[in-house]
Amino acid sequence: MLHCNKWILRITLWNLKLNKPLLIDHSFEDWDWEGVPNFRMEQVRDWIFEKGQLDWGKMSNLPKSLKEKLTERYDLVPMKIMRVQGSKDTTQKFLWRLRDHQLIESVLIRANQDALGNRSSRLTLCVSTQVGCALGCKFCASGLDGLKRNLTTGEIVGQILLARKEAGRRIDNLVFMGMGEPLANLRALLPALDQILSPRGLGIGARHLTLSTSGLVPKILELAKYPAQIRLAISLHGGDNETRRKIMPINDRYPIEELFKACEKFIEKRRKMITLEYILIENLNDDLQQAELLATHARRLNAKINLIPYNQVDGLEWRRPTLTQIRAFQKKVEQGKAPKVTLRMEKGHDIEAACGQLRLQESSNLS
Ligand code: SAH
Ligand code: SF4
Repeated sequence: MLHCNKWILRITLWNLKLNKPLLIDHSFEDWDWEGVPNFRMEQVRDWIFEKGQLDWGKMSNLPKSLKEKLTERYDLVPMKIMRVQGSKDTTQKFLWRLRDHQLIESVLIRANQDALGNRSSRLTLCVSTQVGCALGCKFCASGLDGLKRNLTTGEIVGQILLARKEAGRRIDNLVFMGMGEPLANLRALLPALDQILSPRGLGIGARHLTLSTSGLVPKILELAKYPAQIRLAISLHGGDNETRRKIMPINDRYPIEELFKACEKFIEKRRKMITLEYILIENLNDDLQQAELLATHARRLNAKINLIPYNQVDGLEWRRPTLTQIRAFQKKVEQGKAPKVTLRMEKGHDIEAACGQLRLQESSNLS
């Protein structure tokens, strides 16, 4: 087995070596193409970020010689679509194949109503940041196989560029709740955020962007220094350490009290509400005592609560609570005067919208 893994690693490195550098791994400000005038670089920027064109040959206002030079030097396409599940008017899940043949997912979610119940058609993309995940939360398909590798900056930005092209319109919101732990890959993520937020990049407003973390305390503190007003969601999933550690091994490293202190520092810097995410799992964290604890935590942090009924993962034995229990839990949290509680009935439950599940299916088809 060890021998086999070594070979996989060698082939992956070999594949990456065969590839040319990916242009969008570098931010526009760092492009330097010896002697190419700025207005030409500006044209390329416009093709990529405004028009979503990732084919050098189709950048019609560039001279042929420059197109050839750039084609020789840079790859533009970070990933190809391998599978799409769901339909254009509901939730769509994309399985992407990266240049070294690793698989990741993004999910495009359409909201037909805004928070006030008005008709709207906002598009939210759920973005991945790693191939797999090292943190091994017990409910999560992404972590079942461990971490394969971090995504590069261009692979993070590329998901948005390509999903936008598929959707044929701009994407309004981004949630970093796909595969992987975003804060474990800040090195690639922060430059990706710069490209996403910049008006010369994708131009998405910071308030429309949410990072979700399992609670990497030092990284939350590092993120607090990032200048833009991005939103933070904490995957809590347990009201006390005893319950949380059964679900999330990371709790042994950063227990709840330490995590909340980091959240308080983040909030102090940002003056913005954070969100506590709570997956409801039958007979594990869905009793009403947990609901009371959750409300207490939310009051202390002045945080919103997002309740998410567990989405069954193949190979895992946990179950979603009954609707009656889910409602009772929600009611108890509301009675505990939590500032704002929402129940997110997973959109696209039928297409296994929780990230990591499609990739899991695909790899079991392949094996
Ligand atoms: N690593 C980060 C972000 C990715 S996972 C984190 O843990 O916060 C983020 C979210 O995916 C979870 O909090 C949960 O909302 C959702 N999720 C993952 N697996 C799920 C499942 N089986 N059922 C329901 N939601 C799930
Ligand atoms: Fe990793 Fe998040 Fe899944 Fe936990 S829930 S294993 S941190 S991706």
